[in-house]
Amino acid sequence: MTALRQHLIDPEVCIRCNTCEENCPIEGAIEHNDENYVVNAELCKNCLSCIAPCPTGAIDNWQIVNQAYSLDDQYSWDELPEAVELVSSADIDLEAAASDANDILQMARQSSGAVPSPVTASKPSINLWTREEPVTAIVTGNYRITEEGVESDVRHIVLDLGSQSFPVLEGQSIGIIPPGMNALGKPHLVRLYSIASARNGERPGYNNLALNVKRVTYEVSGEQHQGVGSGYMCDLKKGDEVKVTGPFGSTFLMPNDPDANLLMICTGTGAAPFRGMTERRRRVGGSGTGKMMLFFGARTPSELPYFGPLQKVPTALLDKELVFSRMTKRDESKKEYVQDRMLKRAIDIAALLKDPNTHIYICGLKGMEAGVEKSFEKICADNGMDWHEVRSAFMPEGRYHIETY
Ligand SMILES: Cc1cc2nc3c(=O)[nH]c(=O)nc-3n(C[C@H](O)[C@H](O)[C@H](O)COP(=O)(O)OP(=O)(O)OC[C@H]3O[C@@H](n4cnc5c(N)ncnc54)[C@H](O)[C@@H]3O)c2cc1C
Ligand code: SF4
Ligand code: SF4
Repeated sequence: MTALRQHLIDPEVCIRCNTCEENCPIEGAIEHNDENYVVNAELCKNCLSCIAPCPTGAIDNWQIVNQAYSLDDQYSWDELPEAVELVSSADIDLEAAASDANDILQMARQSSGAVPSPVTASKPSINLWTREEPVTAIVTGNYRITEEGVESDVRHIVLDLGSQSFPVLEGQSIGIIPPGMNALGKPHLVRLYSIASARNGERPGYNNLALNVKRVTYEVSGEQHQGVGSGYMCDLKKGDEVKVTGPFGSTFLMPNDPDANLLMICTGTGAAPFRGMTERRRRVGGSGTGKMMLFFGARTPSELPYFGPLQKVPTALLDKELVFSRMTKRDESKKEYVQDRMLKRAIDIAALLKDPNTHIYICGLKGMEAGVEKSFEKICADNGMDWHEVRSAFMPEGRYHIETY
């Protein structure tokens, strides 16, 4: 009997974020129900497009089996079965994969899922602490960073890791395990939050990190509810203990090269990784020529996290465009989205796109991607470039990164 190397998702590590399903170029190769994400052995082409984007590494599991586990088998798992032999994707011989692997790899290069980390990025640590073995962090601060009284409640939360090892890089995320059980009587799934501080701590030299958490609210049958994870986080008090997993993310990282330009586009809490990257640049000093340009969208200035402190960041460090999509009636004419403001800075953006040392990062609401892409298309067209060619050149060099949720 021919042995098969089967691609599997570890249900204990998977946080059900759907990233793998979005990045898989093969319709139906990854599917899910309310419990598990699973890989269809008959459809999966071993193209690896799902590996890098998975924030937890749950998807990077491969077992040698005589007969493939069925979808039903995988849906029934609370943990991976005992492996006869476990290998990681690094050991997979791409040439030996399915015959149409080349086509799929070609497709994978087009998708943001296949983008590697920047060439000069530091090597990240991932998945050091798991749901089974989380680290306990202590809350040392929880401050509202949107104005009191406005609908959007965003918090700057500082977690102290004490003497426990939790090395992070700007652009990575951590997982939070909300206490309690879900409606099915199972522990809540991990919620991911981007790290908003620099690698050497929110306070330099301290083993702590900052997050920006937005309280999610929604209505069911006229009754107001709040998100399980974000509500828990936003209500934390100084001294509270939080169960943390991670760190996660191995590609959405900043280049260490001080001459690299960072073009950062975000909405809401999507600014978190950019706060970390800006702080990192500020701390290492101005030895390089790299520019940092930020487009940051919110509904109003009162709802833009860090609106006050951001005004004080010198333009020489961060060229920032704060953009508001919902102004009062009197200010209706100022209503604008990040993609609109990008067009107003077309000349500067075009210059950055022509520079082979520019890195693009997009983070925030899923809905922002299409508009931002359109603006890039127009800026390129007006400046003698083809956006699709530009993007295709950026991607394999780890210079185009998207993280939207
Ligand atoms: C890589 C990554 C980074 C992230 N970084 C950040 C960050 O820096 N800051 C941040 O604030 N968030 C971030 N998020 C989002 C975060 O992980 C959570 O998804 C978010 O906080 C919502 O989780 P929650 O538990 O509060 O909401 P949930 O309780 O999971 O609810 C989410 C939504 O589900 C719906 N819903 C839930 N239950 C019901 C119900 N009974 N009936 C009807 N509808 C329902 C509602 O629409 C609700 O808004 C990130 C996500 C990813 C993937
Ligand atoms: S390896 Fe490729 S085909 Fe298989 S699940 Fe991942 S993205 Fe889909
Ligand atoms: S954690 Fe990884 S395997 Fe699980 S849904 Fe997200 S991307 Fe897929």
